[in-house]
Amino acid sequence: MYIIFLGAPGAGKGTQASGVAEEFGLVSIATGDLFRQAVERGDDLGEKVKEYMEKGALVPNEITVQMVLNKLSAPECRNGVILDGFPRNLGQAEALDEAFKKQQKNIDSVVYIKVEETELIRRLGGRWVCRSCQSPYSIEGTLTEEQKKCSKCGGELYQRPDDNLETIKNRLKVYFTETSPLIEYYRDSGRLIEVDGEGEVGEITKRIIEALRRKA
Ligand code: AMP
Repeated sequence: MYIIFLGAPGAGKGTQASGVAEEFGLVSIATGDLFRQAVERGDDLGEKVKEYMEKGALVPNEITVQMVLNKLSAPECRNGVILDGFPRNLGQAEALDEAFKKQQKNIDSVVYIKVEETELIRRLGGRWVCRSCQSPYSIEGTLTEEQKKCSKCGGELYQRPDDNLETIKNRLKVYFTETSPLIEYYRDSGRLIEVDGEGEVGEITKRIIEALRRKA
């Protein structure tokens, strides 16, 4: 089972991908997390992608596609994968389809999580993330040092440097110009499942699981 989670920054792709991956026994691959880890390690890949991420721009396709295909060939991905945040433009989608065709694999479904723009901006502005396990938190206002603690693993909560208003606006612009054409790309090939991404987290997870079961 190979599933893509598509949606704007702040749509809840990461949160939903982990719930749905658990339900179906899949591995979730988040390109943004992989890039952030590389930046934190300060390795070659991290050096290459840092500048793009700080601006909220897309990392070039040759870097991104190669990283994802490498990851997909790992043994733990044998039973299927949820791709969170990839593909993000037409070139990436076509490269993925081409690589899968050669390997006789298929993208079974593309879950498009739909959220209004004002809600996206509200969510991103109040997003805190655990540095260790990447769990996201939605918080209004500021946190004291003591409150910056992940309730799941005790790791430190932080606000992503690209979750500031200026970069959020750029990321949304990039999403609407480069990524949103993928909605039609996957709808045309009959793989798109559209899910309302507003409401309570668990409720949205249920909607996605039910929609995937109906399609299977
Ligand atoms: P995310 O965590 O998905 O919001 O991604 C954070 C940043 O990583 C993005 O703003 C891009 O700079 C980069 N990135 C993540 N996924 C991709 C992708 N599929 N293609 C290009 N850049 C990406």
